[in-house]
This record gives sequence, C-alpha cells and structure tokens, in this order.
Amino acid sequence: MKIDVLALFPNMFEAVMSQSMMWKARDRGLLDFHAHDIRDYAVDKHRTVDDSPYGGGGGMILKPDVLVRAIEALKPDDRSPVILMSPQGRLLTHSVSVELSQHARLILVCGRYEGVDERVRELAINDEISIGDYVLTGGELAAMVLIDAVLRQIPGVLGAEGAQNRDSHADGLGGLLEGPHYTRPAEFRGLGVPAVLTSGHHAEVDRWRRRQALKRTWRMRPDLLAGAELSDDDMAFLAGLIEEAGD
Ligand code: SAM
Repeated sequence: MKIDVLALFPNMFEAVMSQSMMWKARDRGLLDFHAHDIRDYAVDKHRTVDDSPYGGGGGMILKPDVLVRAIEALKPDDRSPVILMSPQGRLLTHSVSVELSQHARLILVCGRYEGVDERVRELAINDEISIGDYVLTGGELAAMVLIDAVLRQIPGVLGAEGAQNRDSHADGLGGLLEGPHYTRPAEFRGLGVPAVLTSGHHAEVDRWRRRQALKRTWRMRPDLLAGAELSDDDMAFLAGLIEEAGD
C-alpha cells in the first residue's frame, strides 16, 4: 500500500513510522509511506498556508489554493480515497479500517487551526474520517491512528498471521470484545490463573474464551451485542448472565 500524508507538521510522523509494525511493513515492502509538508505548496515568500475566516470569528483557516495544489501534486487517481482527517467525518471503526486496507493507495490530509476552507472538501476530498467524538489540535495524530488500524489488516504486516482476526471487534470474534489473557507466573500477588487454561483441553479452552468474550462485551460494551454474530449457545449463556444479574 502507498500512503501519502499532507500535514503542516510532517516530522511528527518520523518516530511513529520508523518503529515496530510500521517499520516492519516498510521494511518488507508492504508500505510505501511519505509525509509531505503542506507549506512546500505555498507560493509567497512567507510560505503562507492559512488566513483569517471570512465573516470574522477566531482562528485561522487552511487556504484552498495551497491545499488543493498540494493534493493535486500527489496525482490522486479516481479510485484512491483522498481522506480529510476531521472530527466531522465518519467514525473510524474496525470495518472502516478493513475497507480502507483494500485500497492500493491512500492520501490523508491533516487539518490544523480552525480547519480547512470548505472548497477543499468540494474540489479535492472524497472521504472524511474522524477517530472519535472529540477535537484534536491537528489531523496528524488522527492520521497515525488510522494508518496503524489499517496496516494491521494487510496480510503479512503482523508477524502472527491471522492474529488480528482474534482481536476485539474483528470478524473472528463475531464483533465481540476479546476476553482476558494470562501468562507466567502462575501465581502473582495471590492471584492465580483459571484452571481451564492449564488443563490442556483445547475445546474447553475455546469454550471458556468464547464465554469470557461474551461476558466482557456484555459488561463493558453491551451496545456491541446487537450487531454481534451469536449462536444459540451464546444466547443461552447471555440469558443466564442477565438472569444472574437480576435484570
Ligand atoms: N473547527 C473544526 C470543527 O469544529 O470541526 C475543528 C478543527 S481541529 C481544531 C483541527 C484539525 O484537527 C481538523 O481540521 C482535523 O484535521 C483534525 N482533527 C481534530 N479532531 C479530529 C478527530 N476527532 N478526528 C480526526 N481529525 C481530527
């Protein structure tokens, strides 16, 4: 996958994109990443990228001429998403990250200050993504979150193939949250490990894990149960939990 980012602070990407999974993806030739400085597309001697808003009010707006020139210089083709990072966009979820991972190229545009001139959206943006219902100072961190979530869906990026399919929200878990994990030591500060995990009965371990996932989802994010893939056995287990709680 090729990812181009347009940002006013492209150096923010250096640390994140040169470590861990991001670096491995680049090293294995699975990711071709470039962070471009929007300021390089300003034409005046002060390299101006923003201006005050028409109609007054505080804050500065990223100029449409500079930003559209920057996007066009990356030569987006008709099939590539040109995504504005924005608190007004569609929410980044597991299914959105899977959808985006199927593209050969992404262009991510990071706003700053009060945001971008509306004509940038109209002329050069074809998708808008938010990483949550809160406002960040700039789109750079949001773009890094999106890149991480998308990259781990690309085959070959994560070491253990298919491991991401057993994570919370993934299809392998039918949209549930993952249950608890344990590792050595077997006892820590008086707390042990569930006996089933050391029993060697794989079918029992799988059943326990499924039930823990159901329990955790019901406790932490009951809203997810409405869209989860649930078997008759799952439904019966959940009904038991609800009855136990006296709901
Ligand atoms: N005035 C804008 C509004 O009310 O919608 C917010 C501008 S915000 C301070 C500056 C930039 O940060 C945005 O243009 C966007 O690129 C980025 N940003 C802020 N919150 C974000 C979020 N939740 N998801 C993605 N990008 C975000």
